[in-house]
Amino acid sequence: MYFDPRPKTKREDLFDRERELEEFITALESKRPLTVITGIRRLGKTSLLLVGLNEANAPYILIDMRDVNPSSEFDLYKRIEAGLNRLIRERKDIKTKIKEILSHISGVQILGSGIYLSWGERGVDLLELFETLERLDVVIAFDEVQYAKGPIGRKLTGLIAHLYDYTNLRIVVTGSEVGLLYDFLGIEDPNAPLFGRYFEEITLSRFSEEQSREFLRIGFEQCNVNVGEETIEEAVRALDGIVGWLVLFGMSALKNPERALEATLKKATLLAKREFEEFLKRHEFARKRYIAVMRAVALGNKRWSEIKEFLERRERKSISDSVVHRLLTNLVKASFLEKVKGEYRIADPILEMVFKQ
Ligand code: ADP
Repeated sequence: MYFDPRPKTKREDLFDRERELEEFITALESKRPLTVITGIRRLGKTSLLLVGLNEANAPYILIDMRDVNPSSEFDLYKRIEAGLNRLIRERKDIKTKIKEILSHISGVQILGSGIYLSWGERGVDLLELFETLERLDVVIAFDEVQYAKGPIGRKLTGLIAHLYDYTNLRIVVTGSEVGLLYDFLGIEDPNAPLFGRYFEEITLSRFSEEQSREFLRIGFEQCNVNVGEETIEEAVRALDGIVGWLVLFGMSALKNPERALEATLKKATLLAKREFEEFLKRHEFARKRYIAVMRAVALGNKRWSEIKEFLERRERKSISDSVVHRLLTNLVKASFLEKVKGEYRIADPILEMVFKQ
């Protein structure tokens, strides 16, 4: 069923994405060491990841890095622990074997049906843990890996580089903040552990209007609900092919088709604002300027010079090119803005609406 808020895990619940799925399965089956799935928030990266892993029948540990504390080893270990426990819950066929091989690793405890990891000085050596999982050909997947910054980020890139060079493990990472993900991978930094390593990249795009329409029609059919063409058209126009928002709309329309778009926009606005607020917290020093840049773009100032002028008029003073450059680069890296042919646009229609008001 399409209108389910959780990431999809089965092929039949995934609308389209045939080419991307094919590419991903091929990367898994041909044992590519590193696959990177990119695309702005809510385009279905986690869904593609899970459906692909299931289709390839690959055992995997999924490590969710959303909002990980960049300096907390404890936080990282808890997430890996959750990934291991999910693996043994889902793969009953190899559960006993996994527990058996992990039980030999110092710092791993198998208690009842759960796996527990110790951290710190006497904690589990992650290299040993992952190298052990290589024996079962487990795929290691890090979802939203760009959140790993600071000491945790460095630990993780070092670890991934080592696994890349010395094991046959398959590693998959996803990221919504695409520029930050590239920073994490260090593709432009010769001193970064992963610099120069080849990786397979699969990029998800928005659905076209036609695909969005089709997605909603099939979604409503699956629920045996009839929703008027006009309602569908309005949603297609407003939600700009972002499947996560279309799902939210579909679910609202099942309850109340007349007010569905209104309800979706309200809920989506809260979510999008919260995500932007998280970005601002990380850039507190220039909060007002980031907001002003988003507003400038939302109001139609698409070129660098127009944005600069907007900021200068607002502050009634000159602002250096390097400052404007930094503001725009950081917004693009976090995927709040996109730059296409020299013009900036707000990636998410909901945020665009927020900043227009
Ligand atoms: P991301 O990881 O890119 O943020 P998710 O995989 O979490 O995206 O998907 C966001 C929402 O959209 C979820 O509700 C998910 O079920 C739905 N979704 C994503 N891709 C598809 C698809 N191709 N078909 C149906 N639903 C999808």
